[in-house]
Amino acid sequence: MGPLQEYRLGAGRPSIVITAGIHGNEQTAIYAAELIYSLLQKETLLGEVCILPRCNPSAIRARERKAPEDGLDLNRSFPGAPDGSHTQRLAYEIWRQTEGFDYVLDLHCCGLYGTTYAMHYFKKYAFAKPLCKMLGVPHVVSSKGTRGQLYIESCEQRGQKGILIELPGGQPGGVIYEDAAEAIARQVLGYLRNLNILAGEKPAPVPIRYFDCRQPIRADHGGLVRPAAAPGDVVRQGDAVAYLDDQPVLAPSGGLIAGIPPLRYVCRGEDMLRLAPDLEE
Ligand SMILES: [Zn+2]
Repeated sequence: MGPLQEYRLGAGRPSIVITAGIHGNEQTAIYAAELIYSLLQKETLLGEVCILPRCNPSAIRARERKAPEDGLDLNRSFPGAPDGSHTQRLAYEIWRQTEGFDYVLDLHCCGLYGTTYAMHYFKKYAFAKPLCKMLGVPHVVSSKGTRGQLYIESCEQRGQKGILIELPGGQPGGVIYEDAAEAIARQVLGYLRNLNILAGEKPAPVPIRYFDCRQPIRADHGGLVRPAAAPGDVVRQGDAVAYLDDQPVLAPSGGLIAGIPPLRYVCRGEDMLRLAPDLEE
């Protein structure tokens, strides 16, 4: 297994490594990483940026989450193993290529009916909230801190300051949401200015809202679900967020609509939408 495709710009500290395509179908993330690289061509670097836009090549070719060689989830496999299966060796290769950077930014997708938000394990890491303010993505959802993820292991084992970003699109079918990719690429440039990795005027701070882990809202019977909210909406407790056979589905708490499909039939017990509950500050 050779080294992965890599773009390097600038030198020295502070430094960041940006990864995408760890899940092969999450291709808005790959497109965003390419856009970030092209935007950086016109910028003055004060530190170093390394971009690994295609971390899971065979999964990307297959437009699947996992590599067909062994079906393991790369983002549950870090720090990997040099003598393990295909995905474990790939994780080890990425682990080595991302070593020594001050910051890690890992780009993912949350599906066709999702929205853009940052994910962080801010319940555990004290650096998370100041870092999320510098990133400036207005919605931040709590991670469960599942081990084996690149940004979690980078924080835990190497003291790197990592954030994961979820973008709409990706699964299924590797669909790219161009507008979301363009918006996050501009946002990441602002983040790099705030981190003093890029020269130029720092963006004005925006208010950040923090949400708890995403939870599915399931249908208590089979029927037709008509959404009454859109991905990215912030709703209040008791708001009708959908209709199941014309009966309102009320939000059990306030929160962020992290994903909600268009009109469709569901079976009993199936997810109708995903809500990330509001957190008291
Ligand atoms: Zn992913």
